[in-house]
Amino acid sequence: MRVTDYELYAVPPRWQFLKLETSDGRIGWGEVYTKWHFAGDSEPATQSAVDQLLHQYVLGENPARIEYCWQAMYRSSFYRGGPVHMSAIAGIDQALWDLKGNAAGMPVYELLGGPARDRVRTYAHVRAHADDDVSDPTAAAAAEARERVDAGYTAVKLVPTAGLELVDTPAVVDRARELVGAVREAVGPEVDVALDFHGRASKAMARRLASALEEFEPLFVEEPVGPEQDRELARVADATTAPIATGERLYSRWEFRPLLEADAVDIVQPDVSSAGGITETKKIADLAATYDASIAPHCPIGPLALAASLHVDAAAPNALIQEQVILDDADAMRYVENDAVFDPVDGCLELPDGPGLGIEIDEDRVRELAGTNLGFDRSPGHRADGSVGER
Ligand SMILES: [Mg+2]
Repeated sequence: MRVTDYELYAVPPRWQFLKLETSDGRIGWGEVYTKWHFAGDSEPATQSAVDQLLHQYVLGENPARIEYCWQAMYRSSFYRGGPVHMSAIAGIDQALWDLKGNAAGMPVYELLGGPARDRVRTYAHVRAHADDDVSDPTAAAAAEARERVDAGYTAVKLVPTAGLELVDTPAVVDRARELVGAVREAVGPEVDVALDFHGRASKAMARRLASALEEFEPLFVEEPVGPEQDRELARVADATTAPIATGERLYSRWEFRPLLEADAVDIVQPDVSSAGGITETKKIADLAATYDASIAPHCPIGPLALAASLHVDAAAPNALIQEQVILDDADAMRYVENDAVFDPVDGCLELPDGPGLGIEIDEDRVRELAGTNLGFDRSPGHRADGSVGER
């Protein structure tokens, strides 16, 4: 069996689905995290990265040699790693695993050692409403959190602040405390509340906010500082009892290693469509386990990425919880013929038990919607004095 052809579809809202075809007529799907595309009609950087990697290293290869293909795609580039290269590898790697599972007639997690758990817990996002036209954003967030719990979720996540000053006022900290306190009260102590600082805080504000919010016993504080400041994470971790999570903007074991060695992180959050695919994400999970850290894979994109994440969660003994944004999104499910695999039960997802990734893609629908402009607004966020901050 050889990989003979491929197609990379750009579909709304801004996703890239990759289809690999083989000489014996099999197909495998993967999802590439669209990178470096801001607005307009230009194609995303991940489009040409996928084209080049496939032509150089995968077309004509035996798709069963996943590790060989991965190493070829990674090591043959002298300038390697980072969001574009590792996202392109990720989508190709997922499609190779899908092919392997399809050929074996087994779910991918069976090929990763078999399921280490029966189901995967997931959480729902709650909007903080700060930018919305609502009269009481705190009450709105609390009501939304309660709705999620009534729908069966046992964990929610929210971003507790808007963009921050380098050192911000007590009022900002008080508003965050009020918001998180209202959500905590609305859901009660049996439900987990995770907080995402979204890399918006300086190390000074990260320490202050994390310690101010620890009384609400968050499941974790995510990206307390941006990825450039990960060296500061150990000090942030020392300032709070809240578990520290990060990793959606890290792309390989080698980027997670220093954080684990510094005991700066309790939960790592690689993205299976950004960090080299199933192959690398499972290795990151195993590396984290060595340091008594768990994984909570990042996944704010589509159904193939979520399915790929679930296979890693299934096989990794240290998977804590899975992010997703599509379970209540009919537009996301229009690409999936067997969307019942994504029906949550008691805040958990069942392990996909079909062969490969376990997802049947409606290719006619994908074709119909493909070619969409994937651009989105990434205009700068500003601080009060007009300087550029995080958004
Ligand atoms: Mg995040």
